Amino acid sequence: MRAQEILAATAIDVRPRHEPRMVYRCVACGEEHELERLLYVCPRCRSLLRVADRNFDALRERTGEQWRTVFDLRRCLQEEGMRGIFLFHELVLPWVPLEDVIYLGEGHTPLVRGNAEMAAWLGAPCFVKNDGQNPSASFKDRGMASAISFLNHYIRRYRPDSVLGICASTGDTSAAAALYLSYLPAGVVTSAVLLPAGRVTPQQLSQPLGSGATVIEVPGVFDDCMKLVESLSETYDVFLLNSKNPVRICGQKSFAFEVAQQLGWRTDRLTVVVPIGNAGNVTALMEGFLDLRSLGIIDALPRILGVQSEHANPVSLWHDSGEYRPTGVRPSVAQAAMIGNPVSFPKVKGLVEEHFRERFDCISVTEQEIMDSMLVANRHGHVVCTQGGEALAGLRRALGEGRVDKGGTFVCDSTSHQLKFAGFQEAYFADTLGPEFEVRPRAELQNRPVSLPATVEAIAERLGLKRR
Ligand SMILES: *Cc1c(COP(=O)(O)O)cnc(C)c1O
Ligand SMILES: [Zn+2]
Repeated sequence: MRAQEILAATAIDVRPRHEPRMVYRCVACGEEHELERLLYVCPRCRSLLRVADRNFDALRERTGEQWRTVFDLRRCLQEEGMRGIFLFHELVLPWVPLEDVIYLGEGHTPLVRGNAEMAAWLGAPCFVKNDGQNPSASFKDRGMASAISFLNHYIRRYRPDSVLGICASTGDTSAAAALYLSYLPAGVVTSAVLLPAGRVTPQQLSQPLGSGATVIEVPGVFDDCMKLVESLSETYDVFLLNSKNPVRICGQKSFAFEVAQQLGWRTDRLTVVVPIGNAGNVTALMEGFLDLRSLGIIDALPRILGVQSEHANPVSLWHDSGEYRPTGVRPSVAQAAMIGNPVSFPKVKGLVEEHFRERFDCISVTEQEIMDSMLVANRHGHVVCTQGGEALAGLRRALGEGRVDKGGTFVCDSTSHQLKFAGFQEAYFADTLGPEFEVRPRAELQNRPVSLPATVEAIAERLGLKRR
């Protein structure tokens, strides 16, 4: 009620009134198709699709300053349909009317300033944006919120008898997909996920099981699962929920919008550091900042620093050599990013060549650096996962090598929650990580429970307490 009063009193109308003309646009041949269909590749040339708004220019009726005010006001108001990633409705997926938006609490994750000890260890002050604080505990919820809102609207419009949502996953996509799909009417919507057997953590496996999805484990790595769902989606009537579905990228752009908003829309000296797996996240990041700049909401594009493990680094190798080749993968603690042939690579290449040439860098780090960085961060008030550790390791290395200017603003994307990857921490502490990871635990970072008799004296002695 209070929000209604404020809305009525505000001179600026913060409700969405933009009329989009949304299409899928092929990134290779440029052909366009109505968004009314479920499409994942260009019907003509099989290339990736992007969701585009042919009426985007109408958004220029507002100045950058007006848009900033609209988004900041919406942040205060918390109106139904304009919360979460759909706070940025016009830039996310305006095809979905407010009443069909599905909101499960995603987005607006905290930007946490690293303390002085972290800054000293990294080589510069930095923020960690903790995307582990999403409903299924990873950033994948952003893209799932847009994809499932899209599906919700699609179902209301076209009334299909049944829809099967399906995805391949390194763990977090399936957790998010199963969660969001389970919110839709069970009589119409079912879900299935394909996982590489033994290559997701027990916590990640428990998530789609708990949401009631059919969980299919197949031998191999993520890339094998991806090939299977790609063929399935070509032959059968399914709703593909991998980031190949461009509707997911729409929601994932919200990470960029939030970073800009949280920094007071000042992005000129900003570097955003992001782990790269299937390359959907980094694609969305670049597209999101491009949208903001194109509307004058920010003045300058930030720099993007992609980070990969040496055990799965096709994008980093491409950036160094200028030549792209899918690679094999070796086991990585940054398991959610352990991908040798990122589906969205063609988009990354296009975005870098067209807009981010001087502003994109991609660096490889060792498994040792990933583990150590995660543990150091978490010893200083963070709850980052191995992929967050990967981002921090990349920033530390880039600062050390002078690849980025120490004077900037740094935001590291911690893509999921520490607890999803607790097993890797446990294995580091117990020194049971297999030799394939090439990690030697550093004694000062190891920590184990201490068993003591249940007496005050024993506990006081162990803690070195002094009597008062
Ligand atoms: C999916 C995922 C990644 C990789 O993101 P892409 O969009 O595939 O590049 C990184 N970290 C976590 C925790 C993930 O779930
Ligand atoms: Zn095409």
